[in-house]
Amino acid sequence: MKYNKEDFKKRLLQKLKSERGVTIEEASLLDIYYALGDLIRDLISDSWVETNRRYIEEEEKQVYYFSMEFLMGKLLISNLINLGIKDLCEECLDDFGISLEDVEGVEKDQGLGNGGLGRLAACFMDSMASIGVPGHGCGIRYNYGLFEQRIIDGYQVEFPDKWLQYDNVWELRKENKAVEVKFGGDVRVEGENGKLKFIHENYESVLAVPYDTPIIGYENKQVNTLRLWSAEALKEFDFANFSKGDYSKAFEYKNTVEAITHVLYPNDAFEAGKILRLKQEYFLVSAGIQSILRTFKHLNKPVEYLDDYVAIHINDTHPALAIPELMRILMDEEGLGWDEAWRVTTNTISYTNHTIMSEAMEKWDVNIFKKLLPRIYMIVDEINERFCKELWNTKYYGDFQKISEMAIIAHNQIRMAHLAIVGSHSVNGVAKLHTEILKKQELKDFFDYYPYKFNNKTNGITHRRWFIKANPKLTNLITEKIGDSWIKSPTNIREILRYKDDPAFQEEVYKIKQENKVRLADMIKNDYGIDVDPNSIFDVHAKRIHEYKRQLLVVLYIMHLYNRLRKNPNLDIHPRTFIFAGKAAPAYYTAKKIIKLINTVAEKINNDKRIKDKLKVVFLENYGVSLAEKLIPAANVSEQVSTTTKEASGTGNMKFMMNGAITVATLDGANIDIRNAVSDNNIVIFGLKEKEVIELYRSGTYNSCEIYKNDKRIKTILDQINGKFLNVKDGEFSIIIDSLLKHNDQFFVLKDFDSYVKAQQKVDKLYKDQNRWREMSIINIGCSGIFSSDRTIHEYVTGIWGANIYHGYYE
Ligand SMILES: *Cc1c(COP(=O)(O)O)cnc(C)c1O
Repeated sequence: MKYNKEDFKKRLLQKLKSERGVTIEEASLLDIYYALGDLIRDLISDSWVETNRRYIEEEEKQVYYFSMEFLMGKLLISNLINLGIKDLCEECLDDFGISLEDVEGVEKDQGLGNGGLGRLAACFMDSMASIGVPGHGCGIRYNYGLFEQRIIDGYQVEFPDKWLQYDNVWELRKENKAVEVKFGGDVRVEGENGKLKFIHENYESVLAVPYDTPIIGYENKQVNTLRLWSAEALKEFDFANFSKGDYSKAFEYKNTVEAITHVLYPNDAFEAGKILRLKQEYFLVSAGIQSILRTFKHLNKPVEYLDDYVAIHINDTHPALAIPELMRILMDEEGLGWDEAWRVTTNTISYTNHTIMSEAMEKWDVNIFKKLLPRIYMIVDEINERFCKELWNTKYYGDFQKISEMAIIAHNQIRMAHLAIVGSHSVNGVAKLHTEILKKQELKDFFDYYPYKFNNKTNGITHRRWFIKANPKLTNLITEKIGDSWIKSPTNIREILRYKDDPAFQEEVYKIKQENKVRLADMIKNDYGIDVDPNSIFDVHAKRIHEYKRQLLVVLYIMHLYNRLRKNPNLDIHPRTFIFAGKAAPAYYTAKKIIKLINTVAEKINNDKRIKDKLKVVFLENYGVSLAEKLIPAANVSEQVSTTTKEASGTGNMKFMMNGAITVATLDGANIDIRNAVSDNNIVIFGLKEKEVIELYRSGTYNSCEIYKNDKRIKTILDQINGKFLNVKDGEFSIIIDSLLKHNDQFFVLKDFDSYVKAQQKVDKLYKDQNRWREMSIINIGCSGIFSSDRTIHEYVTGIWGANIYHGYYE
């Protein structure tokens, strides 16, 4: 697809006229944005239709990625990049005196996710289309995505995210592809020709209407589909009640139905007992699977062969009801017997585990579940019965204890992780350490029973968004230096390692980092009125606010540094700017207090003239994909300081290293894989090791109060937080102090403090040796290719899904 400028301009002017009713002179940025969106949809329409035709004609195995979250961000520029027309579009707009960046400014982030899990799904969409996998997304079209965060008086305040306030130019509503999803009611069992028949009655019907967004592959004419479902009231029901004059009943029905896809749960972890969340989960899988089966039927194959033509992947356990839902359809609607349906289901479905934190493991109360999903409950119950019997008859004869530990239903709860493992053919972790912990600890019993199901797929990020889009100058520099083969084969970026100690190349990489920092500093000045020096080290901690991610460790270090500077304003350190960004779940009280603490400390430090601008602290509001794209290319230091064993993988860590930041990290999640890629000399590691953490938890010998008593630095800092030093009301931060002392510091913040201080001293020393620092930075960029999600998707395709790759650029 190649276009020339004149042609592109003509089509843009035409779109402005026909769709927006304006000339280029009259057009607002919003007009231009919509006209460009329409134009892009025209440009890809043939490829989209053709891709789908090819899938059916060639009977290609289709992959469906089910996820409750898709954190897509903005699509305009990434679509232009993947179509290969970003520069052309930019030049055309320039000729009209319009900047593409300004146009992008009016696009709303598609923020239908909380953090890493949702962003992973979005990166996978881009990689599947770009490397040529017939793979589609299946999710929920929430009317409101993750809340908008504002900081008022130092506190997080949540506002609704009105991302659908104006038309979404990328989606197509497919009314004719709507399906019905049923909740509640009763199940009547009848015998028919010696077979049991299950008849679902008195249920409440919900219409699931799909909205399709094209997912455009990188310069390969492949266009896959992200299908998001919206809940609507059935028209007939409405009408029946209206004609009887029962407005309130019709109204109530409409409201309860529309509530299902109203808003994303703003929680990183599982929120127990929320019926609406269970409804959302079943709504997604029922709509998704019905629509998959309808597409499959175009192939005219017996349903027994479904697993040869379809792979369904579930992103964490949230869509695990795909297992009983597929069983239901295969048995109740397609007439298969249990054994055949079970074979097809388990061969079709695969599962990714994202966490070992017990509070994030989904468990549903049997009574709630049974009432909402009576037929699905019967199937889950039967899966459980058969699984427990199998355990009894094979490995665990007579071992009631083991069987109840492994059961899917126990203590009146349904354990979604157990259901996902038993009902799928593959269970993967998301980084080497995480998968090892699953195998030898968290899911050890299941690994012993099904060793062949377990495998690792280290996460990745799409370098098209996180490098080419976010860092265009560095992209151009690298392409000038080594050609552009790395774009389609990301590990080829290794070739820049030849220039790692070339002073001229180092200088150019450094200059681009400086430009990115100046841009961020301008934004900070503009939006927050804070002066930050682009020559200071930009040290960034950006991710969800969570105790295990240990923003608190960084804050304590900042206070320590501040205390040293107050004593000696001429302290020989390179000036540093600490930048935080991240949202806390609205009900996560401690996390919200950590935000307040960061802002309180920032206020104090930023206004202290004595320390001569050697230290600044900034908290950026409303962390999301678009902010991340601006922030990450400007970072010198990447803070990846989670309590070892707690961060399954992390993907923020990969984005930062790809953009040349040096990582300060614990040996947790994919930090280990990053260390292995860049070697110990090009990353700064600190903190407790996996074995030490596990041993401390096991033995219970850790005593945080001892550290408080013995380490003067820590005592001073905690007393400052607890006392008058920060000028806050009494007890403002007592929950933080209590978590560290009274509750014995469950995340080892104090335990790792000394090691972290040393790591930060090392960072300061390294930065002062600019040759060394710049070399490290180039090594990080050059070693980042394996963290492209193209590599990850390639591994899923060959190791789990068994699909074919078109236009594969790996061979
Ligand atoms: C990458 C990303 C995350 C995940 O960050 P982690 O450091 O892995 O927790 C969260 N939110 C956004 C907006 C991201 O882009």
